[in-house]
Amino acid sequence: MQKVLDLNSEIYSKNQFITGLGNNVQLWLKREDLLHPEVSGNKFRKLKYNLQQALAQNKKKVLTFGGAFSNHIAATAAAAKLSGLESVGVIRGEELGGNLEETLKTNATLNFAVSQGMKLHFVSRSDYRNKTAPGFIKNLQLKFGEFYLVPEGGTNSLAVKGCAEILSEEDKAFHFVCTSVGTGGTISGIINASEENQQILGFPALKGDFLSAEIEKYSGKQNWELISGFHFGGYARYKPELIEFINNFKTAYGIQLDPVYTGKMLYGIFELARESYFPENSRILAIHTGGLQGIPGMNRILKKKQLPLIQI
Ligand SMILES: *Cc1c(COP(=O)(O)O)cnc(C)c1O
Repeated sequence: MQKVLDLNSEIYSKNQFITGLGNNVQLWLKREDLLHPEVSGNKFRKLKYNLQQALAQNKKKVLTFGGAFSNHIAATAAAAKLSGLESVGVIRGEELGGNLEETLKTNATLNFAVSQGMKLHFVSRSDYRNKTAPGFIKNLQLKFGEFYLVPEGGTNSLAVKGCAEILSEEDKAFHFVCTSVGTGGTISGIINASEENQQILGFPALKGDFLSAEIEKYSGKQNWELISGFHFGGYARYKPELIEFINNFKTAYGIQLDPVYTGKMLYGIFELARESYFPENSRILAIHTGGLQGIPGMNRILKKKQLPLIQI
């Protein structure tokens, strides 16, 4: 894995054959999780052109938003540091700031972000909901000075441009390209880079009625569909069968999945295959978008509930 963050060249990750799914359907996995040890997967793609832009604008600092287990917060902290930029993370949950020492002891994501030099700014859930309001941003500028703003989840048009680089020339041979969906930036880039005869399937990690409109903002093509039945109750929600699937997948193929995004997508792909959704001889490319940094946080919750843990 590369240790530097190369913002200036196109990098492609390898595709790995996983298994047949019956009916001569092949499942391959694009290992975006191996792009970088700290800025893994789609978060590298989403940040690349944004950080280039911040540097081009001579900004010294990036500011972004996220929850306490956010892959985007962790990735932004690391990527900013590697690019010589300061970073500020506006974190949902005022209570977490009350006893910062305790929070950092128990929350691996925030602890990592701070270790990368990120300044954390905790806000209440209602302030957080208001985070795009001009007055709220203005107050952040008064507090932190000038910054380059990256939206929550990192999605904007530069992020979509970066995500288009997930697909390479050789990927044109796949009939289906599957990805997990949070804010819709990643799938939009993949749709833009796809061929008309490819079908792009998005597996939302949340109940996201807004997602189709969001994707249409960034992409004009029609060759995509959201498969909405595999969010397991919502964002960061899970069921024991999801954890079991993730553990079985690891035992069978030696690849770690995360419970928020990639685990749900692959569960969905296997389920669709069982229902003969994919025509005979289909070649499926699923994107491993990374996200593994969040697993310890999820395991803490599972442990408290005395549920089986995700094996790492
Ligand atoms: C953020 C994230 C996603 C969702 O990407 P969007 O561009 O927000 O749709 C998918 N997988 C992983 C691992 C992520 O961290």
